[in-house]
Order: sequence, then C-alpha cells, then structure tokens
Amino acid sequence: MIEKRELICVTCPRGCRITVEMEDEKIIRILGNTCERGKKYAESEIKDPRRMFASTVRIRNGVHPVLPVTVTQPFPKDRLKDLSAELRKTEVTAPVRMGDVIVKNVLGTGIDVIASRDMESVRS
Ligand code: SF4
Repeated sequence: MIEKRELICVTCPRGCRITVEMEDEKIIRILGNTCERGKKYAESEIKDPRRMFASTVRIRNGVHPVLPVTVTQPFPKDRLKDLSAELRKTEVTAPVRMGDVIVKNVLGTGIDVIASRDMESVRS
C-alpha cells in the first residue's frame, strides 16, 4: 500500500508543498518540489530529519546569567530532548567569545555546541 507524507519545504521562502509517496518504508516518488534542493530536503526529512537548534547555558561570572548557544550543523530531530537535557547540565565561565566551543561532539553526534555571542566577565 502506498503511504503519502505531506511536507512543506523550508529550504527557501517559496515553501513548496511536497508529497512523498512511500511503499514499505521506501520512497518511491517525490512530487511538488520545484527544484532539486526540495527533493533533497524531502529525502532527508523522511530518512534523517534534522533541525537547527538554539538555546542557552548557564554562565558563571558573566554580565548576564545565561549564554546563548547554537549547534554547528542541523541536529537529529529525535535527539533534541537529549540535547536540551545536556545543555541544562552545562555551565561555562566568562569571558566567552562568539564561536567558542561550549560542548564538543555533543552526545557523540560529531556536532559541536558553540557560543552565539561574546560574553564578558563582570570583572573584565
Ligand atoms: S522545492 Fe526548491 S523552490 Fe520549492 S521551497 Fe524547496 S528549495 Fe524552494
């Protein structure tokens, strides 16, 4: 039996509606994409959905109590809760520079968590 999955491509602002037809968990047809990037998006969304992620971690001695952080690559969607839990346990010490690695190879994914901004120390 053919199963249909409806997606909206988020690769560009056009937001094409894409239909993925699947049989036995395999993609057999992709419809509605205007370009090749949409096809790649749909394949990735079905096989290995990922999201960019931004959050904060606690920072000691900083001019603010938390430091905004992000990931260096889109993160596996089914592990975002684990990532949030990991970041709740993370604390750094100011000063920090934008792009500094806060957690290397987080959860063994090969993806780093980095600082999204500079954070000065209260005593610098
Ligand atoms: S399919 Fe192509 S044109 Fe359509 S939203 Fe995706 S990237 Fe943009």
